[in-house]
Amino acid sequence: VRKKLVVGNWKMNGGLKRNAALLAGLAACGNREGVDVVVCPPYPYLAQAVAAVKGAGVAVGGQDLCAFKDGAYTGEVSASMLLDLGCAWVIVGHSERRSLFGEADAVVAAKVQAALDAGLSPILCVGESLAQREAGEAEAVVCSQLDHVVDVLGAERFAGVVVAYEPVWAIGTGKTASPEQAQGMHREIRMHLERRGVAAEGVKILYGGSVTAANASQLFAEPDIDGALVGGASLVADSFSSICAAA
Ligand code: 13P
Repeated sequence: VRKKLVVGNWKMNGGLKRNAALLAGLAACGNREGVDVVVCPPYPYLAQAVAAVKGAGVAVGGQDLCAFKDGAYTGEVSASMLLDLGCAWVIVGHSERRSLFGEADAVVAAKVQAALDAGLSPILCVGESLAQREAGEAEAVVCSQLDHVVDVLGAERFAGVVVAYEPVWAIGTGKTASPEQAQGMHREIRMHLERRGVAAEGVKILYGGSVTAANASQLFAEPDIDGALVGGASLVADSFSSICAAA
C-alpha cells in the first residue's frame, strides 16, 4: 500500500515572524502513522523551517530548483543547495511556474532529473487548464506532460517521482475537483504510466487544487488519491493539521 503524503506549498507567502508561529503549529502534524508530511516555504525561509521542524517528523522541500548543477546562473538555486540546507523534497513544474514563468516541458523534465541526480525527491506537477478540460483534452494534456518526463528519465527512474495532479482551474479558486473527477484522472495517470512501463502501483499521485479541511477526507477516500498538495490551507496551522489528520 502507498503511504499517504501531504505537502504544503506556501508559494510566495510568509515572513520570519509569521513563519515561526505557523511552523510551531505544524509540530503536531508530524510523526503520525500512515502519513508523511512535507512543508515547502520560499527559499529564504528553508533554513528557518528545517530548524523549526527538527525532530517533529515533518520534512522540508523547495518549491522549485535549477536544472543546472552550479555556476553562472544568477538568481537560481541548485538541487545540491536544497539538499545542503536539509531539504529532502522539491516541487517541480508547478502550473504557476509553467504559465507565469514560461517553464516548458523540457525544462521541467531536466529539473526532475537534476533533483533525482542530487538525491532529492521530486514532486512533479501536471494538470490541464479550464479551456483544455472544456475541449475534452484534459487526459491528453496530462499524459503529454508525463510523457516528456518519462522520455527523459526512463520508466525505471520515474518510479522515484511523486506526481501531483493539479487542475489549473481548481488552484486558488475554491473550485475543487470532485472526488470522482480527481479519482478518474488519477486512475488515468496510473494506467498511462503503466502503459509506459513504469511500476505505477508504487507511484504516489497527490491531488492539488483548493484542498481544505472540509473536503480532504472525501478526496483521500478514493483509491488512487495518495495525498494532497495544499496551497492556501497550508498557511493556516489548524487547517493544514486537519488535512494531515484526514490522511
Ligand atoms: P490552493 O490549495 O491554494 O488551491 O493551491 C493549490 C496549489 O497550487 C498547491 O501547489
